[in-house]
Amino acid sequence: MAGVAPDMTIDRAGFLAGAAAGLAALAVPLRASAATTLKARWMGGGVLELSSADDSTIVLIDAWIWNNSGYARFGLTKPADLASAAAYVASIKRRAPKTFVIALTHDHGDHMGDYFELMKTLVAENVPFMSAGQSDLMRTGLIPNFKAAGLDESKLIVNNGAGINFGGSATVGPVTLHLVPAQHSTSLGYPAAGFVIDMAGTRVYASGDTAVFGDMALIGRQFSPQLAIVCAGGGPYTMDAEGAADAVRMVGATEAIPVHYGHNPLVGGPETGERFKAALARIAPNAHATVMTPGGRATITLG
Ligand SMILES: [Zn+2]
Repeated sequence: MAGVAPDMTIDRAGFLAGAAAGLAALAVPLRASAATTLKARWMGGGVLELSSADDSTIVLIDAWIWNNSGYARFGLTKPADLASAAAYVASIKRRAPKTFVIALTHDHGDHMGDYFELMKTLVAENVPFMSAGQSDLMRTGLIPNFKAAGLDESKLIVNNGAGINFGGSATVGPVTLHLVPAQHSTSLGYPAAGFVIDMAGTRVYASGDTAVFGDMALIGRQFSPQLAIVCAGGGPYTMDAEGAADAVRMVGATEAIPVHYGHNPLVGGPETGERFKAALARIAPNAHATVMTPGGRATITLG
């Protein structure tokens, strides 16, 4: 067999050009828009709501709201509009989003505790929404819960009930969700996930519960998210503030919000936010941290 012909030799410039073309081919484009701000509200623990400036698009990351125990360690009381299913759904109704999406990362109680009550109340109040999650969790694991709640999963789960698997996506109106891996466990055994969320002309990475892992750099290379919402509470369950800062470095986000702390005695307390901020300044100095309080709101400027 012939060896490699001399003219097949690839010089360094040619190799780099090829590598750059490969990167460009891999990158998932973001549909640009003039909007560069997102509103965020932390519900405590790992639960965060994102909305466009005009509330026409709302994406809720996980659903543990009125039972959320993320306030006491902060010495805070849960705001009235988050204190019951009826109150939260009434507030969503008042804001009248054109698109409301509930993105479920995994089935642990501190993420899914109020999920079915929320969906039942939304349906009862005629508030349109769609929910997304890992496909086997949605179309197998949680089917008994959907049946017990009297909910039609084929109409409420993205992709006609199929959900999303890793590398896949779903589009709901102006929102596109990409499912990405997380290194975590689940109660039913289906994989835990994170999301890359395109909304209001911005791109957000929501890590879900996870350890820090090297393929976060691949998520960064593929999606270039602007904002990273990262679990930071450490303890027995997830990466801590330093790991979360390293996650932000790897995905390359320029804005970050730490979550998943203060909601139980085993995870980091209220000081975790400042610890994350300090770690980010050291590990990802080009990124800016927004430290929130449970029930509190922030406006994040992106772009
Ligand atoms: Zn959790």
